[in-house]
Amino acid sequence: MSTIFSKIIRGEAPADIVYQDDRVTCFRDINPAAPVHILIVPNKEIATANDLDDEDESLAGYLLLTARRLAREAGIDESGYRLIINCNRDGGQVVDHLHLHLIGGRPMGPMVVRV
Ligand code: 5GP
Repeated sequence: MSTIFSKIIRGEAPADIVYQDDRVTCFRDINPAAPVHILIVPNKEIATANDLDDEDESLAGYLLLTARRLAREAGIDESGYRLIINCNRDGGQVVDHLHLHLIGGRPMGPMVVRV
């Protein structure tokens, strides 16, 4: 299921990486929705939130803690931000490699569009 994100993680495709370690790679979204828009991506190839295993419990928590730290470093922890995980078609997932969006730097507006 390799996607462009695996290439970015391996350094085989360019990206504006803000943080990387042995578990996670974080880089700026190529089409940002707000002044701060960082993708927090597990290095492990997990396609969607549906594909998280019980053994990924620690990794899932680490994604959240990494988002918290990057929000603080971006200076948006006090003003606020939104964390989003899209899953499959109705969730609007485009890249089939699990990722957490950290979005902030402006008011985010309604949580979802009401139709
Ligand atoms: P999704 O809709 O799957 O939750 O979000 C995928 C995100 O990945 C989109 O916001 C899109 O702009 C971003 N994206 C897609 N391809 C690339 C890429 O090659 N580089 C970077 N930095 N972001 C990408």
